[in-house]
Amino acid sequence: MKFTTEREIMPKFDHYDVIIVGGGASGLASAIRLKKRFNKILLIEKNPRAGGKLDDFEWNGYRWDKGPSVFTEPNNIDQLFELWDKNPREYFNFEPLDESCTYYFPDHSSITLSSDYEKTREQIAAVAGAKGREEFDNYLKESDALFGKVGDYFISNPRPTARKAFSKELTSKYKHFLRKEVRQSLHTLNERRFSSEYMVKIFDRFGTYIGSNPYRMSGLYSTISHVEINKGAYFPIGGMRAIVESLITLAEEIGIEILCDTQVTVHPQPDKSYRVSGDVEASTDKVICAIDHMTFYNKVLVDGKMENRWRKIERSTSALVFYWAMKQGVKEFGVHNIFFSEDYQKEFSELFDQKRLADEPTVYIHISSVAHKEDAPEGGQNWFTMVNVPAGVLPDEAYREKMKDMIAKRLKEQFDYSLREDILFEDWWDCDRIQEHSGSYMGALYGPASNSLLSSIKRHGNTNAKYPNLYFCGGTVHPGGGIPLVLRSAKIVSELIP
Ligand SMILES: Cc1cc2nc3c(=O)[nH]c(=O)nc-3n(C[C@H](O)[C@H](O)[C@H](O)COP(=O)(O)OP(=O)(O)OC[C@H]3O[C@@H](n4cnc5c(N)ncnc54)[C@H](O)[C@@H]3O)c2cc1C
Repeated sequence: MKFTTEREIMPKFDHYDVIIVGGGASGLASAIRLKKRFNKILLIEKNPRAGGKLDDFEWNGYRWDKGPSVFTEPNNIDQLFELWDKNPREYFNFEPLDESCTYYFPDHSSITLSSDYEKTREQIAAVAGAKGREEFDNYLKESDALFGKVGDYFISNPRPTARKAFSKELTSKYKHFLRKEVRQSLHTLNERRFSSEYMVKIFDRFGTYIGSNPYRMSGLYSTISHVEINKGAYFPIGGMRAIVESLITLAEEIGIEILCDTQVTVHPQPDKSYRVSGDVEASTDKVICAIDHMTFYNKVLVDGKMENRWRKIERSTSALVFYWAMKQGVKEFGVHNIFFSEDYQKEFSELFDQKRLADEPTVYIHISSVAHKEDAPEGGQNWFTMVNVPAGVLPDEAYREKMKDMIAKRLKEQFDYSLREDILFEDWWDCDRIQEHSGSYMGALYGPASNSLLSSIKRHGNTNAKYPNLYFCGGTVHPGGGIPLVLRSAKIVSELIP
């Protein structure tokens, strides 16, 4: 596949209907949508290939996705192909995961959530009793209802403007925002709904799907578990990278120009158009920022005032991710495995209040080779092992070794497995590497944190009144981070553009 359109064959100066800065999932999706209405679209990407955080790499027969691993709502991808009357299955495929995740607790008990609802209920009953099973049923019904009443509307539409805030459509939603479950924290809601502390931990963890603190974020986010459990978790055939590979193929087929290894500065013009200079010179009627808005204000638009204005907003978590090639691995493991810390509240207080590396964080181990055998040589496993860290806090070598010791101890106790002896190869991502690779400010995975009810409203919108014809999509702006949300943001932006 060709990722770089040769710069030499570009005219010295050209005019585009739309220029998109950033070739991650959101940039690609907005380009595909807008190409329906605009003829000349240029997508500018700083890396040698597009895809953003959905990148991957290989070593000796092992393959790792570097960033996202949890995949929900594949319909957001399918829509992009259907828009062009193409069969999505000819470009990209996925399968439902039989087991969406296994949660291991410090006392060595575990619960597996699976696509078979009855099986999940049995697992829950074994650990949390018949009452736990009943509470689980009720929780899912209530999060489904809340998603339908407010969640879906909020993430499918632009952030309400002051004028629209009093429209009939919106005022009818307000009563739901005043509900107790929305005003209280996700953790408080979970504690009230579940009598088992195991279940509280499982449902608190969904807050980390947007890099936020379940002890502070709104109970509205109980809707995240609805998306994974009620709607289902999926595995993309070929791994997460296959998602963006399919979008790049479609983008090229429909005539979007993708320019990789390219960085530019964007200059607003008096007639509300923009000029672009740097590795390519061009003019355009409209610009879409599909990168972190902080990096855009700092490096691309060079507006220090805007950058300073948004700097104060608390960031979501970053991560320390180990990519390990395992000679054997753990045969009991599924695709997604979580090892909970002993004291979950302390962990989040360290990450968000003290903004320091947690002493004993929860560990997430993702092994794509369990579902996709080609991702590791026969008998081996490709581990993506992640702990959350505060944005902008760099784990040093001592912390990395401490984490390895902690994980090794846990796996020895749980499976009598010797971690260090089994690792054939190691690489890692941390906040500096994430920032360098994708331009994410402080290496935050999901842009600003959503640690209060108002944080979703305070998030950067899809436009900026100071800059007409400039639009924003992607993980740092409304409606937020995570693949389903950045694809929705691309849709919102494409509908906002007249
Ligand atoms: C370790 C990790 C785990 C994650 N886990 C999940 C998960 O399990 N599920 C999930 O849904 N989400 C997950 N996420 C979040 C998800 O990856 C993001 O929300 C999503 O990929 C963001 O897409 P985007 O298009 O907004 O931005 P990005 O993917 O960051 O793309 C931005 C692009 O812009 C380019 N760029 C930056 N600066 C410039 C510039 N100056 N000029 C030109 N191009 C530039 C970058 O190179 C990049 O290609 C995870 C992220 C990480 C890092």
